[in-house]
Amino acid sequence: MIVCRTIAQLRTTVEAYRAQGRTIGWIPTMGALHAGHESLIHCAREAGDVAVVSVFVNPLQFGPSEDYARYPRPEAQDLQTLTRAHVEVAFMPDVAEVFPRPLVTTVHVEECTAMMCGASRPAHFDGVATIVTKFLHIICPQRAYFGMKDAQQVAVIQRVIEDLSLSVTVVRCPTLREADGLAYSSRNAYLSPEQRKHAPQLYASLQRIDEWLSMHPQGEAPALCEEVARWIQAIPGCMLHYVEVHTYPDLRPVGGALAHEPCWIIAIAATFGTTRLIDNRLFHHTVPS
Ligand code: AMP
Repeated sequence: MIVCRTIAQLRTTVEAYRAQGRTIGWIPTMGALHAGHESLIHCAREAGDVAVVSVFVNPLQFGPSEDYARYPRPEAQDLQTLTRAHVEVAFMPDVAEVFPRPLVTTVHVEECTAMMCGASRPAHFDGVATIVTKFLHIICPQRAYFGMKDAQQVAVIQRVIEDLSLSVTVVRCPTLREADGLAYSSRNAYLSPEQRKHAPQLYASLQRIDEWLSMHPQGEAPALCEEVARWIQAIPGCMLHYVEVHTYPDLRPVGGALAHEPCWIIAIAATFGTTRLIDNRLFHHTVPS
């Protein structure tokens, strides 16, 4: 595995693979790698891409009161994980390499950033869109792999790529879960044993939706959100932030019966203590995927 610390080194390395006729797959991460990240690497492997994994805790996407400073940065462990996963290139620049000067140029995204996590994290998705656009220009991959755990992020990035005519294909990868249903997340490490015990009930609440839909074939989004909110509020130690239903990937409000929507998402955010967890499910013609 080649570990690149500078943009120049990364460009030269990727160029050499391209000269051999290889396709490049980019897997963006903020490190503290877990099985969820590895599943993205496997998707790139299956497509036959040279796997380029970036590990960069992007300061632009953290709000002033968020966990940028305490975000885990276990670099040695991440290098081991990437080596074990047979990644060809690890891009691990420091902040001064990526942002030698304060930015005066950013990518601003409207509409699809106004709801869900964007409602309480106003600069978050502009920070994501800016770093993703910058890294796309550095790496120039054919494909970029994103996890559906962060479904709004996928929707925002797809929109940026479309609006700016960037030539990269976004590959949506399914959320990988622990055996008890909890979605893998770098933030799970913050949970106390007691919180960890109750956290899988978030996904269990999303799974109960199947039964609700079969009992309410003409059910509408507000009624479903109310019901799911009730289930989540009953989880010990859990504080609900939001339950929202939108069309996907356009993230428009759902009017009328859910059964009439070709593709919709139900997304939740909740905290256990100071640890914020998100999860979601996507439904195609009310068939979950
Ligand atoms: P992060 O390091 O949290 O920025 O995540 C990097 C990428 O990994 C994003 O595209 C995430 O959506 C994806 N990811 C995180 N957790 C999971 C998971 N449990 N299953 C699949 N993808 C994930």
